[in-house]
Amino acid sequence: MGESIIPLADLRYAAAVPRVPAVAEPANGLLADRLGRPLHDLRISVTDRCNFRCSYCMPKEVFDSSYKFLPQTSLLSFEEITRSARLFVAHGVTKLRLTGGEPLLRKHVEVLIGMLAGLRSVAGEPLDITLTTNGSLLQRKAEALRAAGLRRVTVSLDALDDSIFRRMNDVDFPVADVLSGIDAALRAGLAPIKINMVVKRGTNDDEIVPLARHVRERYGPAVILRFIEYMDVGASNGWRMDEVLPSAEVVQRLSAEFPLEPLDPNASGETAERWRYRDGGGEIGVISSVTRAFCSDCNRARLSTEGKLFLCLFASRGHDLRALLRGDYSDEQIAGAIGLIWRDRDDRYSELRGALGADPGSGERRVEMHYIGG
Ligand code: SAM
Ligand code: SF4
Ligand code: SF4
Repeated sequence: MGESIIPLADLRYAAAVPRVPAVAEPANGLLADRLGRPLHDLRISVTDRCNFRCSYCMPKEVFDSSYKFLPQTSLLSFEEITRSARLFVAHGVTKLRLTGGEPLLRKHVEVLIGMLAGLRSVAGEPLDITLTTNGSLLQRKAEALRAAGLRRVTVSLDALDDSIFRRMNDVDFPVADVLSGIDAALRAGLAPIKINMVVKRGTNDDEIVPLARHVRERYGPAVILRFIEYMDVGASNGWRMDEVLPSAEVVQRLSAEFPLEPLDPNASGETAERWRYRDGGGEIGVISSVTRAFCSDCNRARLSTEGKLFLCLFASRGHDLRALLRGDYSDEQIAGAIGLIWRDRDDRYSELRGALGADPGSGERRVEMHYIGG
């Protein structure tokens, strides 16, 4: 690709400074990678910090008081994020997801949402803007987020039982506060709300049915509960295959209690397989990131907290867009660089792992989830 690896003092992961084409092909919303996959979804990590220490993401032993989070100057500013988002949108992105770390910890994040809400897709439509949160600050922030232009939220919630929840977030945070956050988000009109539960066999799999029952009874179809297979992202969580509960088993256990029937996908590239309760109690989703790879239509790019572009959740190298954003480059030049990077993409980690039955990685340290977002 002609890229060079430039070691910088604050560089967390290997990253190449992108090549800027001498004559950039104009962005026309029709970009496709080497496997013919378009670019529709941009996930932006707005902070690498979090007030939880979920063991599958930021285990306490690694992310302790001596861990050095990124300094403020390393973070992309709201202007830099908005400029990047605009260039991605020109290439066909229609959906933006703010994530992290815990995105609601980023000061004045609603100002950023307001800026992003001003963007329009290639077709001239408003973008689908959403945010994934642990819900701890949602009660306080839901109204302001909605007013700024956020349309919906995804709340992570791994258990209904207070003691299991406190153990999983590992900072003794009470489940009642997250449930109040979900109520506040619904009152503010952030709907439909999705709730994501990461299922770890032996840790919270007994919570599948109780949580589903709670969501059905309290919210009905206004809330979609989704079960995510515990993934081997990053290098800190000590992942083991025997702790993964396959989605097929989730569906089986739920069906025994509340009969389910499959639904068609909403859009190509959607990560969740959709099911609905036969009695009209609403919809659920399962995300089989381990047992059923969905790389073949993966249209997601990820922008890290410090402005590196990652083409796959399991990547170990990024592309240092911040170097261009802070250099003397025009929008056309940066859009041209993004175009080159996406056209060269051939990542399909989960598919390869499924085929090989083992980690197909390069041996390099993989990027952590809190840094590029889920
Ligand atoms: N802090 C926010 C939250 O928890 O919703 C946003 C960032 S978090 C990294 C995004 C999503 O990734 C969450 O739904 C979380 O449960 C999920 N996640 C983190 N580590 C995971 C893992 N090892 N396997 C599966 N999902 C994971
Ligand atoms: Fe924080 Fe979300 Fe990671 Fe949990 S999953 S540690 S809430 S970033
Ligand atoms: Fe996309 Fe990579 Fe996940 Fe495959 S493994 S679905 S390419 S993020």
